[in-house]
Amino acid sequence: MITTKRLFISQITSNDVELIYNIFTDPVCIRFIGDRGIRTPSDAEHYIKEKFQDHYRNNGFAMYKVSLKNSIGIGICGLIRRQENSPPDLGFAFVTEYRGGGYCTEAGSAILNYEQGKRSFTSILAYTSPENIASKRVLGKLGFVEKQTTRLEGQNFDSVIFELKKVIKMRTGGCLCRQIKYEFSGEPLVVHACHCRQCQKISSSAYGVNMWIEAKDLNFKTGELKKFTTQGGSGQDHDVYFCGDCGTAICSRYHAAPKPFVFLRSGTLDESSDIKPDVHIFLKDRQAGIDIDVTVPQYDGYYHFKEVWSSHSQERFKRLLREE
Ligand SMILES: [Zn+2]
Ligand SMILES: [Zn+2]
Repeated sequence: MITTKRLFISQITSNDVELIYNIFTDPVCIRFIGDRGIRTPSDAEHYIKEKFQDHYRNNGFAMYKVSLKNSIGIGICGLIRRQENSPPDLGFAFVTEYRGGGYCTEAGSAILNYEQGKRSFTSILAYTSPENIASKRVLGKLGFVEKQTTRLEGQNFDSVIFELKKVIKMRTGGCLCRQIKYEFSGEPLVVHACHCRQCQKISSSAYGVNMWIEAKDLNFKTGELKKFTTQGGSGQDHDVYFCGDCGTAICSRYHAAPKPFVFLRSGTLDESSDIKPDVHIFLKDRQAGIDIDVTVPQYDGYYHFKEVWSSHSQERFKRLLREE
């Protein structure tokens, strides 16, 4: 359940037949969204099972019911996947009395935050009729931009495609003496809190927080890095890059890891308060008295990436290796 100022957002269940029936038999919805063939409450019941519940089970997201705090259902909003491997798209429909009033924007914004927090989509689409001014306005408020007009299969009217692109934050960082400065504009595949003895030495602390990133996303602007090569836990070389003047260790390259990756030490970012480890590893070397967030997975040594990485990161990793 997601809660906003005025709304509850929850999964659609078989108790919501009336709401779904009302929405999909409404002439305005039929005009703008299309005829889903719902003529009776029992059609609505089947639709809930196939298009909402099964969809949720298969994708981990779906359309949700939007209710007022007095639990009156006023509409539906959520992400759907039209085809396998296509980006998800945002859909919404509200019963007549609750169109306008900002309910759709309020629900849409909360759902986008929620779904993007669970997994990172690089793009989310939305389709709307060219004449649906209200819907276009909502999409604009949610940060979508108009792309092109197309005709979807099985529909006898045009749709405008909107897209919401993930804005990747540009971050800066560097060493303590500021001789070395870098820019990082990317997203880590995973963030390790590593308690191994090597990371303790390199960070001169209890553990190192290492962001596993794509090498191309890290650009050094000033200064010259020095390299020290040691042997990683895998037995293969581990290059540590650091500032020759102040000694800050900025990043590492493990020869055991496939080539286009670098481990950036999050403490060298200028602003690191939103970096959170996805996993604690090598806890067999853990220092005494170090508290760890119990909700984060913990391993005595290393782990299998399928247990920790988001499915988005797993797909991204496989794609990067193929491109190599
Ligand atoms: Zn320095
Ligand atoms: Zn380590």
